[in-house]
Amino acid sequence: MSPTYDVIVVGLGGMGSAAAAHLAARGARTLGLEKFGPVHNRGSSHGGSRITRQSYFEDPAYVPLLLRAYELYEALERDTGRNVATLCGGVMVGRPESRTVAGSLRSALRWGLPHELLDAKELRRRFPTLTPADDEVALYEARAGLLRPENTVAAHLQLATQRGAELHFEEPLLRWEPCRDGVRVHTPENAYTAGQLVICPGAWAPQLLTDLGVPFTIERQVMYWFRPDGGTGPFRPERHPVYIWEDADGVQIYGFPAIDGPEQGAKVAFFRRGVPCTPETIDRTVRDEEVAAMADQLSRCLPTLPGRFLKAATCMYSNTPDEHFVIARHPAHPGSVTVACGFSGHGFKFTPVVGEILADLALTGTTAHPIELFDPSPRFAGDTPSRPTEAPA
Ligand SMILES: Cc1cc2nc3c(=O)[nH]c(=O)nc-3n(C[C@H](O)[C@H](O)[C@H](O)COP(=O)(O)OP(=O)(O)OC[C@H]3O[C@@H](n4cnc5c(N)ncnc54)[C@H](O)[C@@H]3O)c2cc1C
Repeated sequence: MSPTYDVIVVGLGGMGSAAAAHLAARGARTLGLEKFGPVHNRGSSHGGSRITRQSYFEDPAYVPLLLRAYELYEALERDTGRNVATLCGGVMVGRPESRTVAGSLRSALRWGLPHELLDAKELRRRFPTLTPADDEVALYEARAGLLRPENTVAAHLQLATQRGAELHFEEPLLRWEPCRDGVRVHTPENAYTAGQLVICPGAWAPQLLTDLGVPFTIERQVMYWFRPDGGTGPFRPERHPVYIWEDADGVQIYGFPAIDGPEQGAKVAFFRRGVPCTPETIDRTVRDEEVAAMADQLSRCLPTLPGRFLKAATCMYSNTPDEHFVIARHPAHPGSVTVACGFSGHGFKFTPVVGEILADLALTGTTAHPIELFDPSPRFAGDTPSRPTEAPA
C-alpha cells in the first residue's frame, strides 16, 4: 500500500510552501514534494527582495487579494518571528499617462487607497536620489515596500512542518495519474495517493502542465546590485522608497533601498525585459553589456546608483500571454487537481493569499476570494508561446 494523504502539494517554492502551510493549518494530511532543497535559488523566489504595493497598475481586480495578502504577511511575521516585510513606501514614476502612473492611480481611486501624487519637483525634493524629467510624476504609496522572498518561503515551510505537514525535498514528481480515490503520484523514491493534488511548478509549468492549454513563456531575468556613488546613506530604507519607473518608451525598471548594509549595495532590475529560456538551458552568466545597459538606463533617473557594480543574479518569470495569473481547478481534472502558475513576474506579493486560495480550492472546490481573472479556460485560445532561445536581450 502506498502512503495516503488528503492533499499532495508539488513544488515548495513561493506558492507551494504557502499552500502547504495553509492546508496543514486546516488539519489536512499534507505531503509536500520539492525537486530541490528548501529555499533554493534555481526557480523564481530568490534574490533577497520583492516589491509589494497596493495601488496595482496591472488591474484593480488584484486589490482585494493584496489587502488580504498584507494581513497574512503580518500574521506570518507574528507566527514565525521572521522578518518578511518592510513597508518603506514606494513610488510609481513616469509620465502621467504611462501605465505605471495612470494604472496605479486608477486602482488607488477605485479602492480608496491612501496615496499622494508628486510632481517632478516634489519628487526630487522628497527623494534626492531620484532625478525625474520635468514631465514625469509619481504616485507615492506609504504602504508599499519590500518582502524578503527567502524568509517568506522559510517561514511557510516552518509553519507547514509545525502544523504537521510532511515535506520531502530532493524528491521530484515524475508523473501522476487519476485513481479511484483521487490521484496517484510517482517520484523516484515512491508512489503516493491523495484525494487532491495541488501543482505549483513555477518555471516548470510547461513541462508539468502540458494539458492545461496555457502557452507559457519562461523568461530569464537579471537582478543587479550596485554600490552608489557617495555610499548607501541616502539609499537606506528609512529614507529611500522602492520604485517602479517607466520611461517614455514604456521600459520599466524597479528597485530597492540598500537593505543589507553598505557592502551589499542596492538592487535594481528591468521589469519584463527578459529573453525566453527553460529552467534547464537558462544562461546564468550575466554579460558586461547587460550591466552597461542597466547603468545607462539608471544614468537619467537614479544617476548616483550605478557607482560600482557589485554582482548580478538570474531568476525566471513564467509569463502568460495576458500577464495575469493562472489559479484554478485543472480544467481536464476538475475534481482532484488544482494549479497555481503563470505568475508573470508579479506573483510574490500574493504568496500567502494564494496559499489560502489553494487550500480553499483543494479542500472545498471553491473560494470566496475573487479569482475569476485567473481562470485559464476562456483566455488563451489561439495564443502560442514564444520559442525558447538564448539570444542576448
Ligand atoms: C527577478 C525577479 C523579480 C521579481 N520581482 C517581483 C516583485 O518585485 N514583486 C512580486 O510580487 N513578484 C516578483 N517576482 C515574481 C515572483 O517572485 C514569482 O511570481 C513567484 O516567486 C513565483 O512563485 P512560484 O511558487 O510560482 O515559483 P517557485 O518559487 O520557483 O516555485 C516552484 C517550485 O516548484 C518546484 N518544482 C518544479 N518542478 C517540480 C517537480 N517535478 N517536482 C517537485 N517540485 C518541482 C521548483 O523546484 C520550485 O521550488 C519576481 C520574480 C523574479 C524572477
